[in-house]
Amino acid sequence: MRILVTGGAGYIGSNLVDTLIADGHEVFVVDNLSTGKITNIQHLLGHDRFHFVNDTILNEELMDRMVAAVDQVYHLAAVVGVKYVVEDPLNGIYTNVKGTEVVLEKAYKYWKRTVVASSSEVYGKSTAVPLHEAADRLLGPTTVARWSYAMAKAIDEHFAFAYANKGLPVSVVRYFNSYGPRLDPKGYGSVIAKFITQARLGQPITVFEDGQQTRCFTYIEDTVRGTILAGTVPAAIGDVFNIGSDQETKIIELAEMIRRLVGSKSEIISVPYRNVFGENFEETRRRVPDTRHAKEVLGFYAETPLEVGLRKTIAWFREAWPRHKLAPGRTDLAGYFDPGEEG
Ligand code: UDP
Repeated sequence: MRILVTGGAGYIGSNLVDTLIADGHEVFVVDNLSTGKITNIQHLLGHDRFHFVNDTILNEELMDRMVAAVDQVYHLAAVVGVKYVVEDPLNGIYTNVKGTEVVLEKAYKYWKRTVVASSSEVYGKSTAVPLHEAADRLLGPTTVARWSYAMAKAIDEHFAFAYANKGLPVSVVRYFNSYGPRLDPKGYGSVIAKFITQARLGQPITVFEDGQQTRCFTYIEDTVRGTILAGTVPAAIGDVFNIGSDQETKIIELAEMIRRLVGSKSEIISVPYRNVFGENFEETRRRVPDTRHAKEVLGFYAETPLEVGLRKTIAWFREAWPRHKLAPGRTDLAGYFDPGEEG
């Protein structure tokens, strides 16, 4: 098939592209390299089944041509992560809402099966774990910029279901804390990338608060497999799926595991949220997907145990980011706010 992946130079997007190419598809990527990186797709440039356009999904004329030319669309392009949305809320809202509007409008016009990437962030502060796709969401006030990300993604989902209502074959995936090769070691957005880098450099591993907060870390191969199932299983049309592991891990346990696997002597320190985020920061204490729906409809289960995925991820970091490329000081607390940059 001919497949368009928006955001195909990003962390999840580029891993998805690799799998689609390996499966024999012809892949078109539209990515403006805002957080995506050319290094993620460099190995594919020149491949006769790979085509890259460095442009924004807000370019309607381009998107019209691209969607018309393919059989299927995976829409992953977005301003990703709370940090970027908080820094520039207008750009975040605009790209994440308008961008999806453009993609879905074209998908509808040319009647192309589409997967829209959403986020576990849409559940907001809900404590109803495990989080079921049909459960209520709980978001903070509109005066707090971070909630605009969850709102924008929720609007994207509403768009998708509105088009599904008109018959468009579209599905939504909600990602839960994906990790693996191509995470940015210097960037914001993944505690796993950050802890691995801190451990490798012998810097303190910065566990926020008591480290009892939990996440369900999902290895990238599982994230990609779930995404493709959502785009191919007939019964997935018009539906939304949690794509996440059910292995709930405390952040303090994660820190200890990473230190052990890296073979590091880093100390593990506790950092209050207010030192990093200021007062009134609202953290999700437990984020756990209900995995039953994805299992029933997609036959999807995130099977990679955390330790297995971490070993592969650490191996990739060592290869792709030798220590001399990791500028010291970039993983300290100030570095948490620094935009990722290619070394
Ligand atoms: N975290 C931490 N230390 C750090 C960065 C993150 O303890 O230096 C914790 C954070 O409080 C959260 C978890 O790790 O509970 C996951 O954070 P991340 O930013 O990776 O993703 P989130 O799930 O918050 O979007």
